[in-house]
Amino acid sequence: MGVFRISRDGAENVRQLAGKRVTVLGAARSGIALAQLLSRAGAHVLLSDVKTLVQLSRKVKSLPKSVDVETGGHSARVLQSDLIAISPGIPLDVPILQQAQRQSIPIVGEMEVASWFTDAPIIAITGSNGKTTTTTLIGKIFQSHFEGVLVGGNIGAPFAGELLKNPHPQWNILEVSSFQLETIYTFHPKVAVFTNLSPNHLDRYPSFEAYARAKMRILENMTADDILVFNQDDPVLRDELRSVLPKTLPISTRQQLPWGATLQGLQIRIYWEEINRQISLSRIALPGPHNRYNVLMAVAVASLFGIPDEKIVDVVARFKGLPHRLEKVAEVDGVTFINDSKATTVQSLAYALQSFTQPVVLIAG
Ligand code: ADP
Repeated sequence: MGVFRISRDGAENVRQLAGKRVTVLGAARSGIALAQLLSRAGAHVLLSDVKTLVQLSRKVKSLPKSVDVETGGHSARVLQSDLIAISPGIPLDVPILQQAQRQSIPIVGEMEVASWFTDAPIIAITGSNGKTTTTTLIGKIFQSHFEGVLVGGNIGAPFAGELLKNPHPQWNILEVSSFQLETIYTFHPKVAVFTNLSPNHLDRYPSFEAYARAKMRILENMTADDILVFNQDDPVLRDELRSVLPKTLPISTRQQLPWGATLQGLQIRIYWEEINRQISLSRIALPGPHNRYNVLMAVAVASLFGIPDEKIVDVVARFKGLPHRLEKVAEVDGVTFINDSKATTVQSLAYALQSFTQPVVLIAG
């Protein structure tokens, strides 16, 4: 059996994979993509899931022959691996992983492993709410100006799967969840965007502090050359980020800041290091005060990399939002019907209620 030592150098990790026995736990979308990526790097891959083959996606059956698949439970073979890579849906305290930890088999997440395969800069977006919207906006703005922009992660397009389609991206724009951050080691964003912080997923975390700690891991490998964009108006987040290593670019829609990105009427002002720009938000298409935050963060990130104003303004004007997020579904006899089923936190519901001037009938459960 070979020994796998996780290196700070991603390319070295990819080289080490050749000939190693690697188990991928979880055969949903990210697990399937990861199994293929690992197999391409020459690893002997076992894809293992507790679900039966009929419960799993048909894609499992179309995997290359070089990937072994076991379903309906994890066998002892998992514990003969040199490395275990896990899907974000699998908590670290399942018995097979506890056993693996006792045997000192390295355990890493899909986001970590995928990051070994690219040396292009990573822009990682996390937070309790607004991740998908902000990630999508940043992705669209970058795609309007640069070639080779990969957009993926928790957004529903696993990083590993996007790398299979685009093996040499120039930029990686990634939505990352707290679950994905629990299993990183060398994952190193050039820019982290932290949208906000409020209680969430307390079914999986013992406390708010534990959840916040997992989220903070986004900063763990960032240095003083990297940049953290965060919401200065969120007191909980501000408090958690009191002393951090990367340079900070705060954003606010409520107050003027000595440096950072702020909103004056419908004018964004970015004043940070040598950047001094004003960008008009008058054509913003997204509704609600929360979306001003999302847009402000996306515009702040775009400004860091010299994307011209016209391109930014144009994307912001054309982006009407994502399905299930304050999505207008119909208008019947003067009544507008809105689908906001992705509002699964108190904070996002509160913002939804602030997004309309008309009387609201709320259907919630
Ligand atoms: P996430 O990916 O973090 O779940 P989404 O962009 O998918 O965030 O939005 C999920 C829900 O949160 C939707 O109801 C949306 O309207 C609301 N939302 C979006 N941005 C924010 C924000 N910045 N603060 C609070 N709620 C938000």
